[in-house]
Amino acid sequence: MVTLHMTNFSDVIQNARERARTLLAQYPQIIKNGKVDVEGLANELGIETKEASFEDRSLAGYIRIKQGQNLIMVNRNNVPKRQRFTIAHEIGHFILHPSQSVHVDDHDTAELVHYRNGTSSQATHLREIEANQFASELLMPESMILRDVNMLRTQGKGISEIIEELSEQYEVSQSAMTLRLNKVK
Ligand SMILES: [Zn+2]
Repeated sequence: MVTLHMTNFSDVIQNARERARTLLAQYPQIIKNGKVDVEGLANELGIETKEASFEDRSLAGYIRIKQGQNLIMVNRNNVPKRQRFTIAHEIGHFILHPSQSVHVDDHDTAELVHYRNGTSSQATHLREIEANQFASELLMPESMILRDVNMLRTQGKGISEIIEELSEQYEVSQSAMTLRLNKVK
């Protein structure tokens, strides 16, 4: 059983990010026009992606991990940027936590990490952080971000302009891009 006090926290984050980088190196064809095709990656990994209108609107999506029937379901009512983050987050669970057959995520698990309920264990919390770190690296790979930020800086652009431009280019929310840039500077 994994608990926070038994684990070096920064190692966990580094490992999650490293796994995303490894995957990108393994499937370079999923980077199209400077953007990561998360559905294409899911497809490469043998995971079907579908969307549905969930009755519970706070639900972002889930993954079912089952040999030959892997499935990611995302909330159709979420904007595409949010759906992409959810798919990347669920791929993170697939890669990092395959022994758990179902992961269900509400809106707050992505980006902000939120206890789904009062009884969530530390291990659950840690898995959500890992999946978010993985998703962040997958959608906004460090080498690509550094290259683009440096290029925009040499063009004299300020940080808010950079965040706006890159969130469009990478098709992520501005808050996800802001968090990402906090980590690379
Ligand atoms: Zn999750």
